[in-house]
Amino acid sequence: MLLFTPGPTPTKEAIRNEMAKPSIHHRTPEFSLIFNETRDLLKELFDMPEVLILSCSGTGALEASVTTFAKKKALIINSGKFGERFSKIAKSFNIEYDELKYDWNTPVDIDDVKSMIVKNDYDSVFVQVCESSGGVRHPVEKLASTIKNINSDIYVVADAITAIGVEKIDVTNIDVLISGSQKALALPPGVALLGLSNYALKNLDTLATGFYFNLATELKKQKQNTTAWTPAISIIIGLRAVLKEFKEIGFENIYEKTKKISYATKSAIKTIGFELYPKKSAVCMTSVKSPRASDIISQLKVKYEVALAGGQDHLKGEIFRINHMGDVNIHEAVWVVNAIELTLDDMNIRPFNGEANKVFNEIYFA
Ligand SMILES: *Cc1c(COP(=O)(O)O)cnc(C)c1O
Repeated sequence: MLLFTPGPTPTKEAIRNEMAKPSIHHRTPEFSLIFNETRDLLKELFDMPEVLILSCSGTGALEASVTTFAKKKALIINSGKFGERFSKIAKSFNIEYDELKYDWNTPVDIDDVKSMIVKNDYDSVFVQVCESSGGVRHPVEKLASTIKNINSDIYVVADAITAIGVEKIDVTNIDVLISGSQKALALPPGVALLGLSNYALKNLDTLATGFYFNLATELKKQKQNTTAWTPAISIIIGLRAVLKEFKEIGFENIYEKTKKISYATKSAIKTIGFELYPKKSAVCMTSVKSPRASDIISQLKVKYEVALAGGQDHLKGEIFRINHMGDVNIHEAVWVVNAIELTLDDMNIRPFNGEANKVFNEIYFA
């Protein structure tokens, strides 16, 4: 079965072998060395002065960023399930917030944010880089610079779980950048990451709150190359191996390859009659509108051994999503669009003529 869901993504055999080595204790010089190297590589990948490694799924980092940086009132951008999650977290901690809500195919309108910010006393803004539930790419860089131009005290928090390792993000005006192990970093779930700006670091001691997700406690420990609590040791070992490989290949080369696969897939999909779901598509996935999405997904799985993801909530049965993050094999990616075209023939929607395969190859190997 080819796993083409937008997270979890497949983990390479070499990385799995690295994680399968006998366990080591985390309070040792051996682990501290690994931890230090991992943090240094992460700082390069994030292009930020400081990075924290938390042992939890991505949502743990979302929670830590809300409890730490939203003290007065937060503005939350909601174009889908993950934006909504920021709001649910704020609500659960009785943190005041406003929400700018859009359809799941619609990116944030910066003018809406502008008018909310000038009218309210926000201390933080929360947004996804890519809202994975519909595959929308928010204009995060422009949003962040607009916010900082109006009020540079506002913390800009961006959830980049489906963007880091996929595309270059301009972090000039971003204070907190969040990632997780199971998407573009192609590892099993269990580790979340937080990149921090100098501005976020400046007040961290006074802002940090809570116990397990106390970022000041973590920062103090992580600067000494250890963690506050027992970390997900084997995933961190895998993370170091992944990042070393990223660096060898070159971050820019990874972004370039992902962009090409993403564009070739989107073009092939449109050629065979589909419409993309988002008004502005992210690089990390191809999100496709189809009233037959559920049938397409099950036919692909049963007959062609391709696992895609469907939609959630009101988009269940309305879209299917193809992953481009992590270690995507080009020949498998070609097979995916070919198999989708075969499926359309099986379902008597469109006769097969190899057009998807042709378009993909023409673009990718141009
Ligand atoms: C996957 C994902 C998360 C994290 O979800 P977890 O299940 O907690 O790992 C957060 N935000 C986005 C945009 C995601 O795609």
